[in-house]
Amino acid sequence: VGRCEVEELSLVEPRPPSEEPTFNWALFWRFLRPHLLALGTAIVLALGSAMVNVYIPLLLGQLVEIVRKYTQDHFGDFMSESQSLGFHLLTLYSLQGLLTFGYLVLLSRVGERMAKDIRQELFGCLLRQDIAFFDGKKTGQLVTRLTADVQEFKSSFKLIISQGLRSCTQMAGCVVSLTVLSPRLTLLLLMVTPALVGAGTLLGTFLRRLSRKAQEQISKATGVADEALGNVRTVRAFAMEPQEEAHYETELEESRRLAEKLGRGIAIFQGLSNIALNCMVLGTLFIGGSLVAGQELSGGDLMSFLVASQTVQRSMANLSLLFGQVVRGLSAGARVFEYMSLTPDIPLVGGCHIPQTELQGTVSFQNVSFSYPCRPGFTVLKNFSLTLPPGKIVALVGQSGGGKSTVASLLERFYDPTEGTVYLDGQDLRSLDPSWLRGQVIGFISQEPVLFGTTIMENIRLGKLDASDEEVYAAAQAANAHNFICSFPEGYDTIVGERGATLSGGQKQRLAIARALIKQPKVLILDEATSALDGESERVVQEALDRASAGRTVLVIAHRLSTVRTAHQIVVMAQGCIKEVGTHMELMRKGGLYSELIRSQTLLSSPGCNAD
Ligand code: ADP
Repeated sequence: VGRCEVEELSLVEPRPPSEEPTFNWALFWRFLRPHLLALGTAIVLALGSAMVNVYIPLLLGQLVEIVRKYTQDHFGDFMSESQSLGFHLLTLYSLQGLLTFGYLVLLSRVGERMAKDIRQELFGCLLRQDIAFFDGKKTGQLVTRLTADVQEFKSSFKLIISQGLRSCTQMAGCVVSLTVLSPRLTLLLLMVTPALVGAGTLLGTFLRRLSRKAQEQISKATGVADEALGNVRTVRAFAMEPQEEAHYETELEESRRLAEKLGRGIAIFQGLSNIALNCMVLGTLFIGGSLVAGQELSGGDLMSFLVASQTVQRSMANLSLLFGQVVRGLSAGARVFEYMSLTPDIPLVGGCHIPQTELQGTVSFQNVSFSYPCRPGFTVLKNFSLTLPPGKIVALVGQSGGGKSTVASLLERFYDPTEGTVYLDGQDLRSLDPSWLRGQVIGFISQEPVLFGTTIMENIRLGKLDASDEEVYAAAQAANAHNFICSFPEGYDTIVGERGATLSGGQKQRLAIARALIKQPKVLILDEATSALDGESERVVQEALDRASAGRTVLVIAHRLSTVRTAHQIVVMAQGCIKEVGTHMELMRKGGLYSELIRSQTLLSSPGCNAD
């Protein structure tokens, strides 16, 4: 009954149960509705194929009866008598094959199209979510929903429709023909079979649980190896190789133990089910044989009965396995649909624009307080007020964790302030179109520039999708990047690998600057843009940044105070509040926090050691 299904099932059950969302039937219906016609046809074909399957054993029985007659009586023409029955059977076999082909093709069509629609919509929904949403999630988990969960939902859906329908119809049909063939034998069978299937299901559940444990243990062992190999430098630096090997071996050993236990379980299961099935065949033959002997049943009918009862058993076993699949399919579907019904607080588009000619680029924070949504009790900014005058450079400095990057995130409208307001040219940021704000007003250059796995040209053009090649060259020139790009054999068509692994830090940063400059932003945010660079690249990048800053409202977030001396205004932040404001000279004269920071950084910046 079970055969290799147990092993197969173990492969699709790697996830430990976590807090489960509920299945959204309305959404499911929305994805299903466009495919109702194909699905309906598939169902009809599947039902047809199942009916044919019910009918075939009856004809087989008749054929056996003819064979029996000729083995006994040896007269008449066997060929002519069995010919029409044979043709009939052949036609049914072909019909069955055709119906199977038809419903499988249709089901695969429905399943794949639905999976594509679901993936597309889910991806769109994920991309539209608030940044706060991503703070609490691991990228891996989100990608799993797009890949493995959709996959599992799709295959469950297909299996439930095809196997479920077929098994139910076949079972019902065969029970009817069994009853017609021999009510007494059927009664006996109906008493024994459910007990056996029940026992099998119980054992199967136990095995599945075991298989899940074994899977989890494998993941655990893989995790150890993954961590060690991924951090091999640290492992080497601490001479941790023997410990890591021992650690891996322990996990591997446990994994082997569980897998062997599972293997034994499967062996027992299959041995027992073979015995049970064979005994049932023997029992049916024995009891059926006595009925045949007593002239209550023909030999052919007994044959039909045997074939039909096997079909019932197979169908029941299938259904009990399907039950597990239903549960898994529903929970995969629930995970897939969960994020589709979420609406972000900050939409991507919608709101007003300030006409280009009137745009000044004055940014002001007024009494802004803010806590990150994932840590509501912890106030990061407290009553923060600051104005960035148009065309001027304002630098935020202070200890790490003081809230500097948070200020930039609020300006990008990654989050909305908990209290207070951020204004651009006197307009509440919340009334402006976020896509316009991010796409055309603000340029953002961060410490770790992210490039996409395409050409340099396309990477720069991400800043302004309709930019001409000339605009791209101009932006690259302004960012001190044109020369190094041209030194590559492929020039602007160089593919920069995933995350730009083929470029140096300084080169990546200059591409990021070009990408930000191409949109000619009125406001520029530089979030520790040079802190990850060495001295020489820092000089080239800083030069590009200085050029980029001219005529723009610039917010610089800096660790290295050497880079902000020329700022029009330096704002010292600590614990989410402004502690000091002034120019470099003013703050040095004052002798407060800023001069202290400068002093401690000068002390620290001996060769090979920087202030970070
Ligand atoms: P800075 O840029 O001055 O180093 P940040 O603005 O990055 O400071 O961080 C200020 C505080 O906010 C820190 O305590 C940090 O732990 C917290 N924080 C930063 N980002 C998040 C986030 N996405 N979710 C929750 N807390 C955050």
